[in-house]
Order: sequence, then structure tokens, then C-alpha cells
Amino acid sequence: MSEVPYPYEAPASQALFDRAATVTPGGVNSPVRAFRAVGGTPRFMVSGSGPYLTDADGREYVDLVCSWGPMILGHSHPEVIAAVQDAVARGTSFGTPGEGEVALAEEMVARVAPLEQVRLVSSGTEATMSAIRLARGFTRRAKVVKFAGCYHGHVDSLLAAAGSGVATFALPDTPGVTGAQAGDTIVLPYNDLDAVRAAFAAHPDEIACVITEASPGNMGVVPPLPGFNQGLRDLCRDNGALYVSDEVMTGFRTSRAGWYGVDGVEPDLMTFGKVMGGGFPAAAFGGRADVMAHLAPAGPVYQAGTLSGNPVATAAGLAQLRLLDDAAYAKVNAVSQQIQAMVSEALTKEGVAHTLQNASNMFSVFFTDRPVRDYDDARAQESYRFTAFFHAMLAHGVYLPPSSFESWFVSTAHDERALQRIADALPAAARAAAEATA
Ligand code: PLP
Repeated sequence: MSEVPYPYEAPASQALFDRAATVTPGGVNSPVRAFRAVGGTPRFMVSGSGPYLTDADGREYVDLVCSWGPMILGHSHPEVIAAVQDAVARGTSFGTPGEGEVALAEEMVARVAPLEQVRLVSSGTEATMSAIRLARGFTRRAKVVKFAGCYHGHVDSLLAAAGSGVATFALPDTPGVTGAQAGDTIVLPYNDLDAVRAAFAAHPDEIACVITEASPGNMGVVPPLPGFNQGLRDLCRDNGALYVSDEVMTGFRTSRAGWYGVDGVEPDLMTFGKVMGGGFPAAAFGGRADVMAHLAPAGPVYQAGTLSGNPVATAAGLAQLRLLDDAAYAKVNAVSQQIQAMVSEALTKEGVAHTLQNASNMFSVFFTDRPVRDYDDARAQESYRFTAFFHAMLAHGVYLPPSSFESWFVSTAHDERALQRIADALPAAARAAAEATA
């Protein structure tokens, strides 16, 4: 790698990784961070500013992960940091209701028409887990339909054929989930309405809800085909089931109103996380007021959280959402389109078969010349080419998601200098992808 602009080794990160491995399984607190899909040393980051991250070895990277979505304004945005500092100075957790959580809920409800009421939680996993419980409690039915390649967090009943880290490690399932927990989950191929119709026919009055990523990003970016989400909406209504749209990834990222703002299909329940927390652990589920009325203390379905609606997290989330106006989304979308065009041009120049897919400003590159419409399509790509591409980009100071089954994320802070860094890195990375062997 003679073109590498600095030594590729990362001794400080490696030393931290070694230390971490003795006290933490696999050295990380979330599996994909360990780089196992691509190999090499995970970078331990020490700071972030705008579109850049700096690692423990003092190297700066253009960040195309953005904390897996939340950092849509870039790192350390001054107004978000100021809101956090202001909140922290008043105390970090009260275990009581507070104005910040009301204001955040009001902002969310004002943006997303089907969101009549919202309950705040601390992670996307908690949001989907709670939404499923509520759907079951409301309908008094047990079964849940999910789609292969869709990831909804590490909820026991939803870890069947999940995407994200589960896709990365090719685990069809995970030990620790019992047959009883997974037994009421029906896994269907994505983008296949006939399969959903058949499931409703085979299980009349048994399906509590259909949960889907509003536009999947956890098998790489695989948007719904025209009419798919509306078809789910209609089938759920016709069969007395709830339509649950998981917007943890797409919410407040793909538009002011998330993916709902793009396709206008009205779910019964929705889940959120990532962007709404401004880089802090905040997430939510919500939707129809008559369904949410079944939640404790208003109704019988129990759900709670010590840190739910935390004042620092809600201050960060609210500050971030208030900065996300039409101009901000226009900027993120433009940056995303520019990077997609640059990546495609570089790969085309080297004759690398690829398909770029996007959902608004979320996008990913599949190393295949066929459109990717479901999980089987995604798994059929030449992932070994991604590995070579990833490492060449990393060596040239561009940090990509360390797996070919993930979306890339950009921010309003990705400026000309950051784009130039990406442009400079791409020729060698495209060449590496072209030369890679299985
Ligand atoms: N749902 C979707 C669509 C996600 O992408 C994720 C995480 O990436 C989750 C749920 C789980 O969220 P968390 O990691 O905050 O538990």
C-alpha cells in the first residue's frame, strides 16, 4: 500500500483493544464495532468535530458512520453542546417528570402527523420491544410478523433473521432466545406482499402486528418497492392487526417527518431513536392515541424506565431537532448525492460491479450489478470487495461502516474539505475492490 498517506497500523487503538478484550467480551460494547467482518484493529475514537473523528493515535478521519445515524449535524455542534451544558449544570437525572421531555414530545408530535402520543425510552431496542408488547396487549393477539434482514434491536422475539450485526456474522438466530420467545414470530421475505397475505390467511385473528423498518437500512439500504408499505398498511387494517413502522434509523433523518414524510403511509405505531437523542441515549415509541391509552399508568400494559426522558438527553435531542429545518435536510441530501456519485464514478472507472441504493440521504454500496430488493439479494453480493474497499478508505482517512450490511450516514457538517478527502481516497479504494479476491 505505497499510496497510504500515513502508517496504517494503529498502535494506540490496538493497545486499548487489547485492554478492552480482557474486561469486555470481544473488546467492544456492540458487536459490529469490533471490525470482525472486515478484520484489523477497531479505531478507538477520542474526539469528534464536524465531519471528523480523531482516534487514539491522533489520526483524523472523515466520518461516514455518524454514530450509526444520530450525528446528522456533525460532531460537537455548538448549539447542541450548549444545550447539553446548560442542562447538565442543572442536574443530570431527577426521576420525576420534567419540562424537557414534554417539549421533545411536542416537537416530535408536531412533525409526524400519525404520532398523536409518544412515550420516551432510552434505546431503540426498548422502543420496539415496548411497541410489540403494546400491540399484543391492545389486540390481545400473540403473533408478530417481521421481515428477513430488518433489524429492530436485540429484542428476543425479533432476533430471527435480523440484519445489522446479526447479518454481519451470518447468524440465522442466536443462542439464548428460546423457542417460546421466537415461536410467535413469523419471518417473511422483504418486499413480498403475497407472503404477508398468505401469513394473514394462515393465521386468522392471531397476528397482533406487522413490524417493518420504514425503509430498511440494516441489510444495507433496501427501500420498500412502490406500494409495499401501503400494502402492509391495508393488510393490517383488513385483518385487525397493527402496522408498526420502525423509524429508529429513518426518523428525523430521511426528512423532517422521517420516512413517513417521504411515503405518507400512516402507521398505527412508530418507533424512534438515534437522531431524536442528539447523540444521547433517547428513543421513543408512539402513535394512535387510542392505542397509546392502553399504556400504564393510563392503561394496563406495563412499561417504565429509570432514565426515560432524561433531562440531558432530551435537551440534546430537542436542540438537534430544532436545528433540523428544510435547509438542513437539503444540505444532507445534497452531500449524500455528491458522495454517491463520487463512489459510483470511482468504482465504474475500475470496472467494479456495484449497485448504489439510497433512501433519501441514507445510502449503501452493494458489490453486485443487480438491484437488491431483499435479504437474499443483499447476501448474494461480493462482500470481499467491500473489505478491500473499506481498508483502503480507512488507510486514506475515511471511516466507513465496518460491514457491507450497513447504511452510510452523512451530516450537514460534511463540507468541501471533507468531500475532497473522500475524493482523494476513492481511486485507491476502487482499485483495491477491483483487485480483491474471494
Ligand atoms: N430499529 C432499527 C431500525 C435500528 O436500526 C436499530 C439500531 O440500529 C434499532 C431498532 C435498535 O436501536 P438501539 O441500538 O438504540 O437499541
